Amino acid sequence: MPRDENGSVAEAAAPLPKWAHPNITATGETRAQVPLVNSAGRGATTLWFNTGTLCNIACSNCYIESTPRNDRLVYLTRAEVAEQLDQIAERNWPTREIGITGGEPFMNPEILGILEETLRRGYETLVLTNAMRPMMRPRVMAGLLALRDKYRDQLVLRVSLDHYTQRRHDEERGAGAFKRAWEGIAWLHGNLFALSIAGRMRWDEDDKKARDGYRRLFRRKGVGIDWKNPKRLILFPEMDEAKDPPEISTGCWDILGKSPQQIMCASSRMVVKRKGAEKPVYLACTLIAYDTAFELGSTAAEAERPVPLNHPSCATFCVLGGASCS
Ligand code: SF4
Ligand code: SF4
Repeated sequence: MPRDENGSVAEAAAPLPKWAHPNITATGETRAQVPLVNSAGRGATTLWFNTGTLCNIACSNCYIESTPRNDRLVYLTRAEVAEQLDQIAERNWPTREIGITGGEPFMNPEILGILEETLRRGYETLVLTNAMRPMMRPRVMAGLLALRDKYRDQLVLRVSLDHYTQRRHDEERGAGAFKRAWEGIAWLHGNLFALSIAGRMRWDEDDKKARDGYRRLFRRKGVGIDWKNPKRLILFPEMDEAKDPPEISTGCWDILGKSPQQIMCASSRMVVKRKGAEKPVYLACTLIAYDTAFELGSTAAEAERPVPLNHPSCATFCVLGGASCS
C-alpha cells in the first residue's frame, strides 16, 4: 500500500471519469487531438457561420434543436461575419468554401448582406435552408435573384427534403412542410440557382432505393436535379449517439488505420454567437454547438489550436463510427 513521507497510508488518486480531462482519458492514456492542418495547409478549408438557431419550424430530429423559440445562438451580423473573414484572410487560411447554417438562415435579417460579403470576397458559398416561408418573402427573393445574377454558381442552396414522400417528410417537419418546401425548390430551380437536395436515410432504405425514390419525385415535379450525383442529392446516414462510447486515445489512430487529417475538425471551424455574449466565437465543428468546452476563442488565431477529442460525439460520429479501438 503506498505511504507518504510521514509513513501514513496515501489516499489513492480517484480515477478520472470519462470525458473529464482535456488531455488524459479515464484509463490514463493520452487523449487524441486533431490539429487544424489538412492537405491545403494550416487553417480551415470550410468555414461555417451559424447565423442563429431560430427556425420557422421545429423538426423532430433537428441536431441543433432549432425551433421558433430557440435563440441560444443569436443572429450574426454582416459586420461580425466580415470581421472574421478579414481575420482568416490575414492569417492566410486556405478557405475555399463558406457554409451558412442555422436554424433557418433566411430568418436572419442581415442574411442577404452576409451572403454579399462572402461572395464578393470570392468564396463559394453554400446555404443550408428549408426553402420555406423565410426564403420566399419578396424582399429575400429579390435579393437572391440579384446575388444569382452577380455571382452565378458561386452561390449554392442546399434544401433539406428529408424524404421523397410527403408522409415521411411531414412526419419529421410537420404537416404541410413538404408542400411548402416544394414551392421553394420549384422557385429556385425555375430561376436557375445552383441547387442541391439533402435527404436523410432513417427509414431502413439503402442508397439505391432512396435515390430511386428521389428520381421518381424529381421527374414527377419536372425538376432536373441529378439524382445520381452525390453532390446534388446528398443522403445523410442516420447516426444515433451511442450510449457509452469509448474515449479516443492517441493509440487509436494506428489501430483504426485513420489519421487526424481525415477528421472534420482538421479542415473546418464554425463561428457562432451565444445569447448574451459580446462577440462571436469559433467552435471546433458544426456537431457540438452548445458545449462551451469546444469553444476555441474569438479570433482566427485562437481557432488554429488543436482540438482534443473530448466528447462522446467525437467517438460516435467522427472516429469510431461503430468500430472500436480498445
Ligand atoms: S429546418 Fe433545419 S434547422 Fe429548422 S428545425 Fe428543421 S432541421 Fe432544424
Ligand atoms: S465531433 Fe469531435 S472529432 Fe468530430 S469534428 Fe467535432 S470536435 Fe472533431
